[in-house]
Formats: sequence, C-alpha cells, structure tokens
Amino acid sequence: MNAFHFKGKTVLITGASMGIGEAFARELSRRGATLVLVARGEEKLAALASELGKAHVIAADLTAPGAAQRVFDAVRAKGLDVDVLVNNAGFGVHGAFDGLALATQREQIDLNVGALVELTHLFMPMVERRQGGVIQVASMAAFQPIPYFAVYAATKAFVLSFSEALWAEYRPRGVRVLALCPGATETPFFQRSGEVPGTSKRARPEDVVRLGLAAFVAGRASVLHGAGNNFSTFLLRFFSREFTVKTLARLLKPQAPELPGAARRAA
Ligand code: NAP
Repeated sequence: MNAFHFKGKTVLITGASMGIGEAFARELSRRGATLVLVARGEEKLAALASELGKAHVIAADLTAPGAAQRVFDAVRAKGLDVDVLVNNAGFGVHGAFDGLALATQREQIDLNVGALVELTHLFMPMVERRQGGVIQVASMAAFQPIPYFAVYAATKAFVLSFSEALWAEYRPRGVRVLALCPGATETPFFQRSGEVPGTSKRARPEDVVRLGLAAFVAGRASVLHGAGNNFSTFLLRFFSREFTVKTLARLLKPQAPELPGAARRAA
C-alpha cells in the first residue's frame, strides 16, 4: 500500500462535536487536513470549526431517514472531495433489554449501523478515486455479546465485521478501511449511556485517536486500544461464549433502580 499522510487531505468526521470525534478533529487539524464536521449540535461544531480553521460544518441528525444522502449532497454543494471518512458518531444505552424504550434501541441501530453503512456506500467511490479510506469507530464491545448493553454491542459487532470485510475487498484497490475499537474512553458517552460497571478506568480520547490514525496509515483492518483490553479480549478464546456472556451478565446487571428518562421505557 502507498504511504499516506493527512496534510492537504479532506476528512469528514461524524460525531465531531465532542469526545472521540472532537479529538479526531483536533489531531487531524494539527496534521494539516481540511475538516468536514458533522453532528446534530450546530453551535458546538461552529465553535470548533472557527477555533481550528480550515473546517466546514454540516449539522445533521444521522438517525433521520435520508440524512446520509443529505450530508453527501451538502459536501458536493460545497465543492469538496472527501479523502477520508471517519464514521465515529454512535451511542449506547446501558440497561435491561425490556427496560429500554424500543425507540432508543432502534436509534442505536439507525446511527451506529444504518448511517454508517449509508455514508460508507455514498462516499466510497469518491474515497477510492482519491486513494483515501474509511475509519469506522467500533468498540471493544464488538468482540463478545454484552448483556444489558445487548443492542449496542451487537451494533459494534456489525461494524467490526462489516469493516473487516470491506478492508479485504478494497485493499487491492488501494483503499484503506479500518475498524478502530476503543475500550472505555473519557468522553460524554457515559452521560447518555448511564454508568456502566467496570468502565471507571478510561483512556484519553487523544490516545485512542493517535492509535487509530497510526493503524489507518499502516493499512491495518482493525485495532483495539489498550494493553489490558487486548489481553482480556485475547483471553476470550479460552472460554465458551456461554461462560463469557453469563459472567458479563453478573458484572453488568444494573444495580440501582433505573432512572426515568426518554431513553427508558415508560413504566
Ligand atoms: P460522545 O462523546 O457521546 O460523542 C458522540 C458524538 O456523536 C457527538 O459529537 C454527538 O453530537 C454525535 N451524535 C450523537 N447522536 C447523533 C446523531 N443522531 N446524529 C449525528 N451525530 C450524533 O461519544 P464518544 O465516546 O466520543 O463516542 C464516539 C464513538 O466511539 C461512538 O461510536 C461510540 O460508540 C464509540 N466508543 C466510545 C467508547 C467510550 O468509552 N467513550 C468506547 C468504545 C466505543 P450531537 O449530540 O451534537 O449530535
């Protein structure tokens, strides 16, 4: 694979207004990329864009039908060609499957899977023409089913599987596809998910992003952040899936009574 650097490239980042997406924006801006920042919160995106310079803003709710196409059209209307797509926007909600609103479960699938596949399909021809690539933000949750995070973990398993398949399809065509799998990372993610037992030790988003960019440049198919995360994922192969999932169910069972809220099922 050819050498790759981000200077002078155009990178579209979804979920760029905070957390890992914001860290991508800051690091790629430092490396001389032009950015296209996408999320729902237009004000935050605009403030970040004016701070970083060389950045465009497209405000979009990616769970809305047709949103990916509208983002693609907005990119074309700005006369931009995207070299690298970073599908980072995503969320998860911790709780019993029957305690979470169906709409929230569906929204996780629409954002983490639906929008990611649509954006990848729309931007791939452009990315291929420019010999760039796609970074899909999956998760350590991709490697095993996770009780009380069931839909979220399943969406991330999809992202990992999908990305590795595309990596093999597109490699001979000079296009990079990477699944970046963070473990618990210090971002506002947990404000939306609720507290998740066992995730109090969190990585810095900047470190996750730097690892992801290095793996992308190296042409890897996937990368998991953190030595401890790599070790525990390695250990999975010595246990049955039933044993692992039963153990995780014990560890992750919500302790406190569920808080009422839009994400929770109405009592
Ligand atoms: P975060 O801090 O909550 O940021 C999520 C980003 O996605 C925000 O910019 C948010 O902006 C945007 N977003 C949310 N819903 C959206 C929608 N409907 N349409 C468009 N944009 C939307 O979360 P994060 O931790 O940075 O997570 C980034 C990615 O890493 C996610 O895919 C997550 O699953 C993955 N991940 C995170 C962790 C972790 O521990 N933090 C671990 C593993 C994997 P708006 O609210 O303004 O739209």
